[in-house]
Amino acid sequence: MPRKRKLYKILTPEPRSKFIKVRCPTCKNEQIVFSHATYPATCLMCGTKLVEPTGGKAKILAEIVRILE
Ligand SMILES: [Zn+2]
Repeated sequence: MPRKRKLYKILTPEPRSKFIKVRCPTCKNEQIVFSHATYPATCLMCGTKLVEPTGGKAKILAEIVRILE
């Protein structure tokens, strides 16, 4: 039986970018942000800025809970 080798497809155009689960320092709400965000991300609960975009990798202003691969 022939093996299917091309099973895995590239899901994202930038493999080094990641999604990060962060905790809001103000209200402790946890949400997922993009590590290479090009726009500021704010807390959905209280509006605290969680991610600030820089030239390349975004600056995470919140507490990082875990990094999602
Ligand atoms: Zn918050």
